[in-house]
Amino acid sequence: MTINQNRIPYRSEVIVIGSGFAGLTAAIECKIQGGQVIVLEKMKAIGGNSIISDGGIAAPNTPEQELIGIKDSAKLMFEDMMKSAEGLSDPEITRIICEKASETYQWSKDVLGIKYMSRIDIFGGHQVPRCYTPDPFSGSTIILKTREKCEALGIKILCGVSVLSFIQDENKRVIGLNVDSNYSLDPDHKKELQQIYASKGIIVASGGYAADVAFRKQVHSDIDDEIQTTNKRFTSAEVLQACMDINAKTANLDLIQWMPWTTNDEIGYGRGGLFGDYIVSSYGILIDSKTGQRFINEQANRKELAEMILQVKDVVGIADERSVLASGWDLNSALQKGIIKKHESISDLADMYKIPEDQLIETLDHYNQMVISKKDEQFNKPIEDWMSSLNAPFYSMRINPKTHYSLGGVVTNVDTQVLDQQGQILQGLYAVGEVTGLTHGANRLGSCSVTECLVMGRIAGQKVLES
Ligand SMILES: Cc1cc2nc3c(=O)[nH]c(=O)nc-3n(C[C@H](O)[C@H](O)[C@H](O)COP(=O)(O)OP(=O)(O)OC[C@H]3O[C@@H](n4cnc5c(N)ncnc54)[C@H](O)[C@@H]3O)c2cc1C
Repeated sequence: MTINQNRIPYRSEVIVIGSGFAGLTAAIECKIQGGQVIVLEKMKAIGGNSIISDGGIAAPNTPEQELIGIKDSAKLMFEDMMKSAEGLSDPEITRIICEKASETYQWSKDVLGIKYMSRIDIFGGHQVPRCYTPDPFSGSTIILKTREKCEALGIKILCGVSVLSFIQDENKRVIGLNVDSNYSLDPDHKKELQQIYASKGIIVASGGYAADVAFRKQVHSDIDDEIQTTNKRFTSAEVLQACMDINAKTANLDLIQWMPWTTNDEIGYGRGGLFGDYIVSSYGILIDSKTGQRFINEQANRKELAEMILQVKDVVGIADERSVLASGWDLNSALQKGIIKKHESISDLADMYKIPEDQLIETLDHYNQMVISKKDEQFNKPIEDWMSSLNAPFYSMRINPKTHYSLGGVVTNVDTQVLDQQGQILQGLYAVGEVTGLTHGANRLGSCSVTECLVMGRIAGQKVLES
């Protein structure tokens, strides 16, 4: 180990840990408000899980919704998030996210220059379509735009700098960081230890722990090591652990959200996640391949879906060509890789997954009747106007949930200040994004993390300058 005093600055007003949506938004807002800020990122490239995400953002009461007559409000979104949180979130944080979602979505267009596709999606647990997708489709669109904004504002992002622990003064105020400024994933890399100090505050935006098997095991021992994840493999909990080492309060650490719509036929969220999340959930059906029957409302929230799919085990997601065309998504690359399959007839589909064919025919007939009668008596799936009967040719994918999102993390107040175990403010320390633990409770609704990262990131960037 060596001490390198020169590679990174010794002091800044504000230090942000992590260069995902939450960290970069906090840094931009802080700089716009007149602060001096730097971002530390342990990897050689910026973006964390944010860059591989879909970048979908939820907001109510938008001009896009108004244009097509969708009635929505911050109150309705609040109701949806609170219902899905099952009493395990902080209502005041949720309220702020919902109330500021629309203005922040607009800010992402006006200030960051992000463009969105002309589509509004609905995911399980939202009562109305309110989810917008960046154009081009990917979280990388948002990361590229935030990076451009950082460059334009002169914000330094230092990559390859891993935060190891916090430095506190005699009053327990967090004043600095011990870092390894030569970080790499190679466990034998030569560490360069350095201290860096912040005169106003440190914003933790280090993301989640859904891929950190060792940490996951400590807090959530019933998840099998072999279970796959949608996260990047370096996603880990060391900064969360460092917060815990200085007595930060945590909540919901035993809760990890699953992504129900993925497949073990590829690594990560991959290309199939799009088919599951955006097409099967809205236009298609889930089938237990052993029985050929549906077993759940495909628009149920992610928690209910994942739990049930893991229980049923052999699950196939099915949609048809009309649904795929209506969805507007291009599935070619997933089809070419054999992750999604196309079938010209029910027999082909049944053969592929060894589904009892008679039962599959009955299930599809029953579903098609349901679409006409607009009522799902079995599972109460809302039958919307955009849904149509399912007919050959069909598209299908094996469905296997993966760990996706860390619901637990540090506890903050509405100003993003981290609280200690006694509920007091840990002066000098702020946290935003997936590293926090009281936003989504038992279950995060689709597209609500990006909203959270942007809304709370901006608040952190403002509040840190007040101390
Ligand atoms: C495949 C996928 C698709 C998703 N799609 C959506 C979606 O469409 N809509 C939605 O709302 N949510 C989505 N999510 C969830 C959402 O993307 C994440 O919750 C969000 O991006 C987290 O942002 P963050 O800034 O908190 O963390 P991250 O983006 O993970 O950034 C954290 C950063 O901190 C860095 N870091 C960690 N430890 C250290 C350390 N010791 N020192 C220095 N740096 C460190 C990491 O390297 C990383 O770059 C998706 C997630 C995945 C995996």
